[in-house]
Amino acid sequence: MGREILYQKYRPRKFKDIIGQDHIVKVLQNEVLKNNIANGYLFFGPRGLGKTSIARIFANAINCSNPQNGEICGECSECMAIQEGSFIDLIEIDAASNRGIDDIRDIRNRTYFTPVMGRFKVYIIDEVHMLTPEAFNGLLKILEEPPSSVVFILATTEVHKVPKTIVSRCQRFDFNPASREDILKQLNYIIKEENLRIKDEIRDLIVAKSEGSFRDSLTNMQKIINVRDDMPYEEALSILGVSGEREILDLWNNIFEGNIDSEIERIEKSSINIATFIKDSLDIFRKVLIYKVTKEDNDISGLNVSNYSAGDIVNIINILIKALDNLRISSLPILSLEIALVEVINALKINNSTRVQSKPIDESVDKPLMSKQDRRKKNHIDDVEGQDENLEEVIKSRWIDIIEGTKSFNHHMSGFLSRSSFEINKNNFTIIVPFQFYKDMLMVEKSREHMVNILKNMFNINFKINVKVQKDVTPILSPLNDSSLNGTEETVISESDLKDVFDIED
Ligand SMILES: [Zn+2]
Repeated sequence: MGREILYQKYRPRKFKDIIGQDHIVKVLQNEVLKNNIANGYLFFGPRGLGKTSIARIFANAINCSNPQNGEICGECSECMAIQEGSFIDLIEIDAASNRGIDDIRDIRNRTYFTPVMGRFKVYIIDEVHMLTPEAFNGLLKILEEPPSSVVFILATTEVHKVPKTIVSRCQRFDFNPASREDILKQLNYIIKEENLRIKDEIRDLIVAKSEGSFRDSLTNMQKIINVRDDMPYEEALSILGVSGEREILDLWNNIFEGNIDSEIERIEKSSINIATFIKDSLDIFRKVLIYKVTKEDNDISGLNVSNYSAGDIVNIINILIKALDNLRISSLPILSLEIALVEVINALKINNSTRVQSKPIDESVDKPLMSKQDRRKKNHIDDVEGQDENLEEVIKSRWIDIIEGTKSFNHHMSGFLSRSSFEINKNNFTIIVPFQFYKDMLMVEKSREHMVNILKNMFNINFKINVKVQKDVTPILSPLNDSSLNGTEETVISESDLKDVFDIED
């Protein structure tokens, strides 16, 4: 099957084919019946609801020479010409690409000629809000003194950008988003007509993903059948770039258990759309919150949140909203999500078990962090060179100070170090980070210089700084032990922010 074929094949061609806009169809059909046609119509509503389809049907109906009760006959020469696209009195203009006064002047000149093939010359202007102010003025002039055989159908997704003077000269119709039931009905019909073997749960996923748009639902179904109609649910998830509720619950439950690293890796490997994932998660947590507050039964059985209060859930929601906001300016969505997940872990005081379990026995972890006095003592080590192991221990014990030392330089850098480890070989100091992105940022000349200086000041050694990525690195500080983390990770940052502070050019 070719691309978009479903959308074209099942595009409504008569009033009776239109689903879910009865309030509009009834009025338009009645006008055809009573032969009471206005000069201007304004169709307003979100994309993918069939505004242009209905405009075409209406244009057809008012030109049909044998309408049946306001419906198109589909057999007269006018109907045939319109269905074939050869009806020269139907002119469709995309205002997104023809938005200037010259385009409108051209229309104005042509309106002086009577229709050639039918009773009405119909102009459908899509995305009309894109017209320039001059073009709107030109359009207004036509609408003020319209030739009786000319009909304008203006379609827009943003009615507030259309001048009131234009709106007031049109009959306005507001399109409703398609209901779940309507879209389901349409998909079921097509599945039967086309003999498709699409699984019910995939069909439901398509309905959920289409957000009230018929066009989106058909484009998404097309994506599935272009591969194969009987694919498993998991494959459909990845093709549609969505996270199913099952996956989301799974993922959050793992995060509540502290397995943040493995979950981030899972998200990175999948083709989950981060924005969709966060939105869907918000939806779930909103339900959870209602449940927590009202104690009414709500279908949240899949999420292990019995240990958390309504306040905790509000925290999660706030963090996710912030992340969603941040996504819009970030070119690296996974980073926004990752930071959000770390924030959630911190907010809920969840131990990151992945790290803790894999951590080798290490005094600096099991013991509470050393007091400042202890640290000062440790600093007085005279001969540290040539004793890598011992030196490593000393530096580990002062890792918190190193992080503190980078805060004034760049608090993102301190955030990265707090999730990292290091190793020493002679005078090579290799920072081990969990993500490539950290490496990119820490390898920047300025960051490395700063690190060199800190180490030199603290230990009197001239290290050469390297950075390597190791997904399962055990950070020297566990998030729970590190109070300094709180100030660091609370700020949601974007990649562009980071590029700024690290002076990286795009
Ligand atoms: Zn006809």
